[in-house]
Amino acid sequence: MECRILSIQSHVVRGYVGNKSATFPLQVLGFEVDSINSVQFSNHTGWFCLFRVERNAFPFRAALQISPVNESFLDKSFLEVVVSIIQELKKATPGLVYVCDPVMGDHGLLYVPENLLPVYKNEVVPLADILTPNQFEAEESISVLQVMDLLHEMGPDTVVLTSTDLPSKHGDQFLVALGSQKTSKVFRNPDGTSSSQKICMDIPQVDAVFVGTGDLFAAMLLAWTHHHPKDLKTAFEKTVSVMQHVVKRTFTYANEMAGPGNKPSAAQLELRMIQSKADIENPSVVVEAKVL
Ligand code: ADP
Ligand code: PLP
Ligand code: ZN
Repeated sequence: MECRILSIQSHVVRGYVGNKSATFPLQVLGFEVDSINSVQFSNHTGWFCLFRVERNAFPFRAALQISPVNESFLDKSFLEVVVSIIQELKKATPGLVYVCDPVMGDHGLLYVPENLLPVYKNEVVPLADILTPNQFEAEESISVLQVMDLLHEMGPDTVVLTSTDLPSKHGDQFLVALGSQKTSKVFRNPDGTSSSQKICMDIPQVDAVFVGTGDLFAAMLLAWTHHHPKDLKTAFEKTVSVMQHVVKRTFTYANEMAGPGNKPSAAQLELRMIQSKADIENPSVVVEAKVL
């Protein structure tokens, strides 16, 4: 049976990266290789200089004209086209294997536009059968929801991310917290999906930096999960509501002490714990959690 590979990678005129480093070795091994060159460069990025070979240049002499490259060699719309090609091919060809080498960066340095990351995380990686990231790319490929599942697998039945950089549907005045609770003893279902309840909370952000909020959060979560052991939604809502009462009260007091037009000091922003006693004892729920 003929084995055919569609290879979507860079082309370089001189040297071996991308399609140039994949096509020949695969052909030697007997594979038919169809290639799409995502870009055409003079050489790879490790060289002293790098030029893009104009794709649409005409007549042929002009095709040899080269221009310096300062933009990245991958963009969001290209990646989205790749996703739709793979989706269609997978539908048409049962058993198709998609190998993805996510090009994102290395050694803590991103070398593609930042708006590619959610496309990788949410669309490309879930489609891949084989994934070959470096460590940086592996860390960037994982969504916060998957982080919670990984943490569950390491032991804890309940995981709460007290703040994330997820965008809130209500705008940038909100910070997003996430919770996850295992719902059965056998954590992973036979079909590979996880049995956990995932909860999301949009928390109105107060315009100050507080210290001790993480500790208060953990203490309150302990208390309220003790009262609602199988109901993370309620425990989470009560915990975050206490936080809201405390930080808002603290903020109001701190601004009063600082006086109009002045930024409160760290001392003025010490949490108003005693003044919040009633809210701690019996918090009115002011933030609603969403079950995902
Ligand atoms: P940590 O100290 O562990 O990093 P954070 O202090 O960032 O945790 O978050 C703990 C909780 O404190 C958040 O979930 C939120 O409820 C509350 N919180 C902290 N800072 C703010 C803020 N500026 N506005 C509103 N809530 C805040
Ligand atoms: N494409 C081009 C044009 C490159 O220059 C590089 C790296 O230099 C790559 C792709 C990716 O190569 P690697 O196999 O190191 O991820
Ligand atoms: Zn690579």
